[in-house]
Amino acid sequence: MASGSHRNGGVKVASKLDRLPPSSAGYATPKPSAKSRPSAAAAAASRRGVSMAPSASRVGGDPGVPGRVRVAVRLRPQNAEEMIADADFADCVELQPELKRLKLRKNNWDSETYEFDEVLTESASQKRVYEVVAKPVVESVLEGYNGTVMAYGQTGTGKTFTLGRLGEEDTAARGIMVRAIEDILADTSPEIDSVSVSYLQLYMESIQDLLAPANDNINIVEDPKTGDVSLPGATSVEVRNQKSFMELLRVGEAHRFAANTKLNTESSRSHAILIVHVKRSVKGRLDADQNFHGEHSMSSNLVSSFRPPIVRKSKLVVVDLAGSERIDKSGSEGHTLEEAKSINLSLSALGKCINALAENSPHVPVHDSKLTRLLRDSFGGSARTSLVITIGPSPRHRGETASTIMFGQRAMKVENMVKLKEEFDYKSLCRRLDIELDKLIAENERQRKDFEDEIEIIKMESESRIAEAERSYIDSLENERLKYQEDYLGSIKKLEEKWKCDVEKARIEHQNLCLEKAHSIEAPSICTSDDVSEVRQLHQNDKLLRQSIEDEVNKLKSEVSHWKHLEEVGNAEILKLRKMLESEASQKQKLEEDIAMLKSQLLQLSFQADETKRSLDRGVPSNLSTGFDSLVSQARHSQLRDSAYGPKASIAKLFEQVGLHKILSLLESEDLDVRVHAVKVVANLAAEEANQEKIVEAGGLTSLLMLLRSSEDETIRRVAAGAIANLAMNETNQELIMAQGGIGLLSVTSADAEDPQTLRMVAGAIANLCGNDKLQKRLSREGGIKALLGMVRCGHPDVLAQVARGIANFAKCESRASSQGNKAGVSLLIEDGALPWIVKNANHEASPIRRHIELALCHLAQHEINGKDMISEGALWELVRISRDCSREDIRLLAHRTLISSPIFQSELRRLCIEF
Ligand code: ADP
Ligand code: MG
Repeated sequence: MASGSHRNGGVKVASKLDRLPPSSAGYATPKPSAKSRPSAAAAAASRRGVSMAPSASRVGGDPGVPGRVRVAVRLRPQNAEEMIADADFADCVELQPELKRLKLRKNNWDSETYEFDEVLTESASQKRVYEVVAKPVVESVLEGYNGTVMAYGQTGTGKTFTLGRLGEEDTAARGIMVRAIEDILADTSPEIDSVSVSYLQLYMESIQDLLAPANDNINIVEDPKTGDVSLPGATSVEVRNQKSFMELLRVGEAHRFAANTKLNTESSRSHAILIVHVKRSVKGRLDADQNFHGEHSMSSNLVSSFRPPIVRKSKLVVVDLAGSERIDKSGSEGHTLEEAKSINLSLSALGKCINALAENSPHVPVHDSKLTRLLRDSFGGSARTSLVITIGPSPRHRGETASTIMFGQRAMKVENMVKLKEEFDYKSLCRRLDIELDKLIAENERQRKDFEDEIEIIKMESESRIAEAERSYIDSLENERLKYQEDYLGSIKKLEEKWKCDVEKARIEHQNLCLEKAHSIEAPSICTSDDVSEVRQLHQNDKLLRQSIEDEVNKLKSEVSHWKHLEEVGNAEILKLRKMLESEASQKQKLEEDIAMLKSQLLQLSFQADETKRSLDRGVPSNLSTGFDSLVSQARHSQLRDSAYGPKASIAKLFEQVGLHKILSLLESEDLDVRVHAVKVVANLAAEEANQEKIVEAGGLTSLLMLLRSSEDETIRRVAAGAIANLAMNETNQELIMAQGGIGLLSVTSADAEDPQTLRMVAGAIANLCGNDKLQKRLSREGGIKALLGMVRCGHPDVLAQVARGIANFAKCESRASSQGNKAGVSLLIEDGALPWIVKNANHEASPIRRHIELALCHLAQHEINGKDMISEGALWELVRISRDCSREDIRLLAHRTLISSPIFQSELRRLCIEF
């Protein structure tokens, strides 16, 4: 096996490509050049000792041209069983041979695109398959390089058909082995060259000789110096013509059959290996070289006549690999666990070597199995290698088909277009996550700062208001007190002065009175009465003054009580402000918790991204697309992979790390972005059947329906509808959706939406509901059929396909109910006015739409009661057309049978004189 000499995917591609000569980018044959120096890749590979055939063993010492494993995918046509069993289902793959792409359908709404070197459709001829897959390898073998052609795929997908068919009865059916020998024999001459063949079977790590079955457990011998691999114990028969080769193949097949019967195995569990050794004389070419140099001198002729004869040895290995399906380790196929392990050993070791080579790993575990040891000198590197992966169309084997495709993708080592983007996207995802994380941290910091500032301002404001209130209260209290004191003192002073003055006055008057008394005795009675009235007057004044002071005191008292009241109000205000502060603080804490949660999600994402990066660095290809949801989808995807090939960065991990309840609770987040991400995650989870029950149990269906009802955001509605559509694949969920008013919500969404993708999801969901026998009447009553028909306004073929699927599902259920006697009366589809659209689109150019409608028409026509409407709407003509022109034989026959057995159609056809 080679290493270091292949192209790798992703960012590394450019540097690797720089080293590749133009011819190696396609299926071109490498041209050996005696003058070329060993490439860096070859040198690195030979240092590791796992590489291509060593230069020393080659005439001319050509180190070989680096190449990479070329991978073609071939789709087997539907077989008779699949035609019946899969009639109502779309194929799981769609080929785009002109773009060399294959689309693998994930479910009714999603598919993944892969690019291959060649994409061979079910109608590809054996000749074409040989020419694109094996001919370049054969040519390279004739040039002196080792070459390998391998077929990998699930049992029954056409590996043996592609490689081993003898084509005795039909030459066009000859497989790669026969055609390769034909080309080799045509290019070699029996006189100077030799072509010999060994035919082996590898089963449970034991190599058996199919040309001499007694040769069991043949040893593999590796030349430690050159690295050449040989099987000295294997029979090698020289082949001189096509006939003798065909005979060998027949003998080999017979022995294989006998050996497998004896070992009680099936051939699908063993690898069949054809080795063609080609030994060619290159004398003619060297002579030509010498002539080219124009030297006809004696000396050069002498030198050439003393030179030993030169031969070029190479081999072509054709491997019909064991079926790639995982064998049941429980032993249900009659194997013990040990047997099961070694049956798969060579195949899984091949996968590991391919991974190691793809990763440029310093260690390629070639010694882990017989198959990889055997292929060591003829796989990749200077050896030209072609792999054809074979797949079947049936959606029932989607898992095996997906793992075959992934094997092919790994073997290519060059990422397909989607992958390339994803690799790039992976890096940008990392960067984006970093940027988003930084942004969130900065935003968080900013928000916290703003919040703190705001709190500070509020605090300061309230403090200043309190202080101001307190100040003004104290001031006014003080003022009042001072004023009162002043007034009081003033009045006291006034009273004292008055009193003094009165006393003085009374004293003087008394003196005068005494004097007057001394001078005259008549006057005293008058004086005394004046005095008394004056004293009375004074007393009165004094009383009034006291009264006014008392009033004043009362007034001040009431003012004090007023200020006390003011103080209480102030205190209440302070309390209110404090409460406000507390609630702001708790809001802040909640915000911080939200931010912390977002941060932890981001951290988790970057952890998963790191995991993915590590897987990528180990060469495990992944299907990263962009963003959060794609990371989840990548995790989901990895579940599909063969466990030997990748870490299970599974959705289960996301469940564990984040928790379904947490994810569902994010659906109600106030942040739109978070809601969008959360609904995408839920939709991705809902796409996995294993998660659906958990989601519904945890209330996810209700949340999704609520989002559909309440969200204004188109993306959320689209993704929620997609998730509901996925959940609606299961009968119990269908009933739950109906019970929770889902059909009404889907109808409203369908009426409001413009985006074809939203409509596609909604139509898909309703189409799934239409497939439930119990929901027929309710669906029609609650407007489900009308909603489906309403969506055809969008005209997008994907939407129309879902509408058609829904109608076909509905018609099928109705037809079943009618034949079981559970339904009488005209079809609800006809009642809801679907017939004109059905008739108009019955011959739609898009085959999925057409097929569903054709099936719907056949189902409707099964019941006589629909006949009248069908005739008046023109559906009869479509049925006649289907019975004559439909490319699907089963539908054609169904239409034909239906027409023949329907008296109403028969009489109408007779009336119109149409022979049927
Ligand atoms: P495998 O070797 O992968 O188990 P086979 O080569 O035995 O599968 O093919 C299984 C069946 O499918 C055979 O009957 C074969 O004739 C048929 N078949 C496979 N590939 C094709 C094809 N491309 N066209 C027609 N029939 C095919
Ligand atoms: Mg086979």
